[in-house]
Amino acid sequence: MAGNKTLTMIKPDAVRNGHIGAITNQITEAGFRIVAMKLTQLTQNDAERFYAVHKERPFFGELVEFMTSGPIVAAILEKDNAVADFRTLIGATNPAEAAEGTIRAKYATSIGENAVHGSDSDENAKIEGDFHFAGREQFDY
Ligand code: ATP
Ligand code: MG
Repeated sequence: MAGNKTLTMIKPDAVRNGHIGAITNQITEAGFRIVAMKLTQLTQNDAERFYAVHKERPFFGELVEFMTSGPIVAAILEKDNAVADFRTLIGATNPAEAAEGTIRAKYATSIGENAVHGSDSDENAKIEGDFHFAGREQFDY
């Protein structure tokens, strides 16, 4: 079904700070089903490709350095209206502007180190899901 999946990464800051369990729990409590998941680490090349859309931005180097600085959890999440509902659950990019109770409000430390990623469109959710997971790692259950 189109439009029911999104790709998340629990970023290196949140993994380092011990928040994998709490964040995963908040995601599933909000009604998302985990249909793919792994602990992994991005190479420089991976991060540059994943965030290629931002390559002209002044923070690109910092973003790549941060995203490769330690393990991440990548996951594909399924729910009606997954992309938009997940972005509501995580809150604004800058945790200072993130609504109370959102994942970034609770666990992010700065605009750069902001705990989680969420896809911004159905099209990118599919591209990003396939970036991290082979077909046989994407479940339907
Ligand atoms: P994400 O794509 O990680 O879910 P987002 O969609 O909320 O975040 P984007 O505009 O796509 O935000 O930016 C991608 C990432 O780049 C942000 O999550 C953040 O880690 C980093 N970033 C964005 N703006 C800045 C900034 N002004 N300074 C430093 N890092 C930034
Ligand atoms: Mg984004």
